Amino acid sequence: MTERSAGTAGAPDGNDAAVAIVGAGVVGLAVACALAPSHSVAVIERHEGPARETSSHNSGVIHAGIFYAAGSLKHRLCLEGNRALYDWCEARGVMVRRSGKLIVAIEPSEVDGLEVVLAQARANAVPGVSRLSGAQARAIEPAVPAVAALHSQSTGVVDAFGYARSLEAAAREAGVLFAYRHELTGVERAGGGTFRLALRGPDGAPAELRAAALVNCAGLRAHEVAAALGYSLDGAEGLPVLRQRVNRGRYYDVVSGPSARAVTRPIYPVPAHSGDLPAQLRSAGGLGVHITVDTDGAVHLGPDTEWLPEGAPLDYRADDSRRAAFLAAGQRLLPSLRDEEIAPGQVGYRPKLQRPGEEPADFLVWADRGYIHLGGIESPGLTCSLPLARMVAELLR
Ligand SMILES: Cc1cc2nc3c(=O)[nH]c(=O)nc-3n(C[C@H](O)[C@H](O)[C@H](O)COP(=O)(O)OP(=O)(O)OC[C@H]3O[C@@H](n4cnc5c(N)ncnc54)[C@H](O)[C@@H]3O)c2cc1C
Repeated sequence: MTERSAGTAGAPDGNDAAVAIVGAGVVGLAVACALAPSHSVAVIERHEGPARETSSHNSGVIHAGIFYAAGSLKHRLCLEGNRALYDWCEARGVMVRRSGKLIVAIEPSEVDGLEVVLAQARANAVPGVSRLSGAQARAIEPAVPAVAALHSQSTGVVDAFGYARSLEAAAREAGVLFAYRHELTGVERAGGGTFRLALRGPDGAPAELRAAALVNCAGLRAHEVAAALGYSLDGAEGLPVLRQRVNRGRYYDVVSGPSARAVTRPIYPVPAHSGDLPAQLRSAGGLGVHITVDTDGAVHLGPDTEWLPEGAPLDYRADDSRRAAFLAAGQRLLPSLRDEEIAPGQVGYRPKLQRPGEEPADFLVWADRGYIHLGGIESPGLTCSLPLARMVAELLR
């Protein structure tokens, strides 16, 4: 079942591992790295390798922490995670670029909105956010017709899959066991503080793993793992809300022509309701189509936002159904962009703890008798992965 036999060194009371982690996305992998020095750890992952879901279907932006409610986990962990992620990647040769980003006003009527964003950045103590005139903004991004902008110096981009591989390598080196192609199908408390995990292996054969603690890093399926353990999902009996909804984000890639190299850093529009940032996020579920530039310098548009009905299938294939909307949003920021320069890009899915129209929810990190639940780990979860792992390690200490 695992790559080493059961009865791992350091596993107490006849368990296979001290800690079982469900999910080998960046969060589960970071947790494995944080725990490995002091615990025997097994990671259960249904896919054939790390980061096959949300962790490799995102913008790869190292966020600065501007847009989150002051004092929230998203805000505090983003400040910490921003620094930690640069340090991790630079120490291990993972592709990362301290690109900075621009939030731009294209119309004079949007300039007031920049002040709201600046006030939020200051309330959040985000370092390196400064006001630029239109001329200053156009001097660094000449293809974008900004009339004014904010520059966020600490924003950057990372090769998210390379980062995941570096975490996996560090975890393996520290003795973590990986059970790829193993799906968690059931879990129960077996008494004596032990969790008994039912798994389905690559050939469909059932397997079992016993662990003294269970960390749920199952991303889009985190609530299913909690339900399997018997938790009610909708906030009954003093429990936090665990049920997640799904919001799809699609991208278009700028694949050819002069626009494919027209900008060098992420470019965000002023949020449409910047007088009330939570209202914007509430209505849309995201920040609105923007431009990102990955570590290779390739330019992407997106992600957009679309709430899915509960239980809708998650299809990672791209289609061309949003071309007109993406082209219009892209041309607003990059007027030279032409229809023939874009092609459908990747698709990602956000696990959300709020329903459509509700206030944006914070990350949930919740512990109950050896069980740790990470819920609603949408953006900026990549940026926050290392401090999320630190929190889990502190909870298990
Ligand atoms: C469109 C989009 C854009 C984003 N952009 C950014 C960004 O620019 N910057 C940023 O900081 N964040 C961004 N994010 C957020 C970031 O990608 C996520 O927060 C992060 O990847 C979450 O990682 P994870 O490990 O929690 O989840 P995942 O990567 O989803 O990993 C969960 C793993 O659990 C496994 N699993 C689930 N159930 C089971 C089971 N029963 N048995 C075995 N394995 C199981 C899954 O197969 C999966 O591999 C974005 C997200 C989206 C959707």
